[in-house]
Order: sequence, then structure tokens, then C-alpha cells
Amino acid sequence: MFSSFHLHERLLKALSELAFTEPTPVQAQAIPAAMAGHNLLVTAQTGSGKTAAFLLPTLHRLLTHPATPAQTRVWIVLPTRELARQTLEQVEQFAKFTFLKACLLGGGEDFRVQASQLRRVPDIVVGTPGRMVEHLETGSLLPAQVDILILDEADRMLDMGFAEAVEKIAKACSARRQTLLFSATRGGAALKGLRDTILPDAQDLQLNAVHELNAETRQQVITSDHTSHKDQQLLWLLQNETFAKAIIFANKRTEAERLFRMLSQRELKVYVLHGDKDQKERNRALASFRTGQDKVMVATDVAARGLDIEGLDLVVNYDIPRSGSDYLHRIGRTGRGGEAGLAISFVTPNDWNLMCSIERYLKQAFERRNLQGLKARYQGPPKNAAKKKKQQARKVEKQTRGGPVKPKSIKPKTKPAPAAVAIDGFAPMKRKAAKDPNQY
Ligand code: AMP
Repeated sequence: MFSSFHLHERLLKALSELAFTEPTPVQAQAIPAAMAGHNLLVTAQTGSGKTAAFLLPTLHRLLTHPATPAQTRVWIVLPTRELARQTLEQVEQFAKFTFLKACLLGGGEDFRVQASQLRRVPDIVVGTPGRMVEHLETGSLLPAQVDILILDEADRMLDMGFAEAVEKIAKACSARRQTLLFSATRGGAALKGLRDTILPDAQDLQLNAVHELNAETRQQVITSDHTSHKDQQLLWLLQNETFAKAIIFANKRTEAERLFRMLSQRELKVYVLHGDKDQKERNRALASFRTGQDKVMVATDVAARGLDIEGLDLVVNYDIPRSGSDYLHRIGRTGRGGEAGLAISFVTPNDWNLMCSIERYLKQAFERRNLQGLKARYQGPPKNAAKKKKQQARKVEKQTRGGPVKPKSIKPKTKPAPAAVAIDGFAPMKRKAAKDPNQY
């Protein structure tokens, strides 16, 4: 029960209006730790309820320790404008019965309007790294009074090249601040570096072993022979699968645009979300998709990162994502809050190895599926090829762990030639070394 956290009564009132009764696991762990003032490093998937996990203790602190005169005391940094907007909406929901004010600093919006909003000293600023740094540099964003710095989707911010901007933001605010860093994955060296520099003494809460993710989402793969085959399979799915809302991921903007045109021509009501769209178009597309007027959204990873769309129950990876962590972020759009979801990935012969590496990353095997009348000729590499490959991989592993594997001694079929002897002072020619079995 949320009441056991002793949150401010105005927050409890908002929670009961939102029908949040039981805290999710990430909330159960992170809320008390954040309320006790600890720096936190939380690994939790999108859809786990992590936004409330950092917003509730933050709003509680603002309400129980008010500042006079008013100051901007919380910065929340997220990788994309859409995510920032979505987080702002959640702030507004939780703070509905309070006087706390928040403002949005996203790229693509009018800089001067944002600067004038900052002059009115909102309690909370929610923004994207690039735009926040611009406001810091022009002096419209003042760091002195920041009590709490929240970095959400930190792994993604680093993937998107925001490491320097995030460090700038962290360095700008007071050393006494509390820092809450949320990430969907454990990230790589860059995230470790960031953790070491900006929150060395943090409590480390790992709320998701990768393979436990999205238990409510079924994950399937469908093999496809080529692009036009994928197009047919996609159309079949959209016409035959039962779903409320679907998102289709493409790896490139041009591909997203092509799919959007193809689906629009079939009289499907579709929207597209990618980085070439201006902010107004993106907002309009998202608003329509959210309100349920349109059932299909085509998107690229960056544009759709972390979006929380109620009722989204089908994710189609038209293009297989480039990494396991991108896969996680995509399927994190569905199966949210324990709802059932379906994630389908198209796999062409070129994608097979990538798909296997994603399965290994997730420690899960995807369900194989074929569509009636559209079964691909390609059903994965031939069985014995896969077996050979495994044997090869095992040998390489042995070699790297325990030195070279001795080549098997080859018994000569005929009698061995007599040992070579030096003739007229020439050394005997050496026999060629046996070929390294892993070389080819
Ligand atoms: P998030 O991981 O923060 O994007 O949250 C995913 C979805 O779960 C959002 O739509 C939240 O409104 C919802 N949610 C978060 N916490 C709870 C809760 N304790 N009870 C019910 N729904 C929740």
C-alpha cells in the first residue's frame, strides 16, 4: 500500500484518483530509499512504474520542505522530447492537488518562451540534455538551488551521444544534491564512467534481470525472404491480428516514411514518428494515437523511446533492432503495467545472427511463427550448419581460455617417408604446419 510510505496526503489523494493501489516492485524499493535521501542507481525496465518511483519521493520532499522564496529545486533529464513531455504529464497528475509547478525544456520548441517560463521559477524542470545545456549557457537556467537531479533512461542518453551534456548538467548543480539515475539496462563502459563521476556512493537497485522482462508480452519471430515479403506479412498482421493499438518499428527514417505511405495507401489510419518530423507534427501524431483515433504508428527507435501509450498491445519489429537493449526498449512499449502484449519481429536471412544474439542477451528463445499463405522459404540456417557453427564456437572459446587446441594427429595412410637429412649442407625443408581448423 502507498500509505505505508508516509507520502504527503496530497500525493496519496492523487494516487487514489489514478487508482494506483499497490506499488510496483521498483516503487517498493526506490521510494523509501529516495525518501531517506540516498543517491540511487536503479536498473528498471520501461513499463515498471519507474516514473512514479522517482516522482513521488521528489514531490514529497518539495511539499514537506518548502523553499522560500520559490526556487527551481528539481531537474529531470530524459533523452527525447516525447519522453520529457510524458514525464511532465505524470508530474502534473501526481501534483494535481498541490501548488507545485513544472516546465518543459525540449528541443524544437521556442527557446524564448521556455526562458520566460523559467523566469517564473517553476519548482521542477523537465528537459532534454541538449536544450538544458543551451539554457545553462545563456544563463536562463540557474543551477544553484537544485536539490534533486534525476536522470531517466540514462543508458539511452549515452547511446544517443549525450554523455558530455549530461556531465555538464550534473556538474552545474550543487554537490549536495541528491541524484537518482534510472536506466533500463546495466549499460556499458560509458554508463559505468558516468556513475563513477556523478554518483559514486549510490545505492544500487537492480529491479530487472534482463531475462525476466515483460513476462506478459509474448515474443515471436516470423522469417521473411525479402522486403516486399515483409510488406505482405505486415499487411496480413494488421488485417488479421486482434489488437487495440500497434507500433511498427523501422531502423531508418526513410523506411519508416515508406511504410507509412504504403499503409496509408491501403486506407489504414496510420501515423509516423521520426526525427525528421517537426515538433508540432510529432505532438499531433502522438495525441491522436493516444486518444485512440488511430490504431497504427510507424516509428524509429529514437522517436518512440520510452513512450507510454495506454492500450498498446502489438509491437512489430519490421526491422530487427540493432541490439538487445534496443529490442528491450521497443518491446517495453507493450505489456505495461501487467497488461498482455505481443511483440513480433521479422527476420530475413541477413538478420538471423542478430536475432540469435538478441535471444542470448535476453536468455530467451522467441516463439517461431509462420503466417498462412505467407510462409518464408527461409526458415533459418540448415540444422547441420548451425551445429557446425556451435562446434566451431566451442573450439574458439577453448582456445581463448586454455591456449591452442592441439590439432588431431592424422595417421598417414601410407608408410611415412624417411626422415629428411641434410644434403650438401642444406637444411631439410620443414613440413607445412597443419591448417588451423578455425582459420576458415
Ligand atoms: P513507467 O514505467 O513509469 O513508464 O509506468 C508504466 C505505466 O504503469 C504508466 O502508465 C503508469 O501510469 C502505470 N503505473 C505505474 N505505477 C503503477 C501502480 N503502482 N499501479 C498502477 N499503474 C501504475
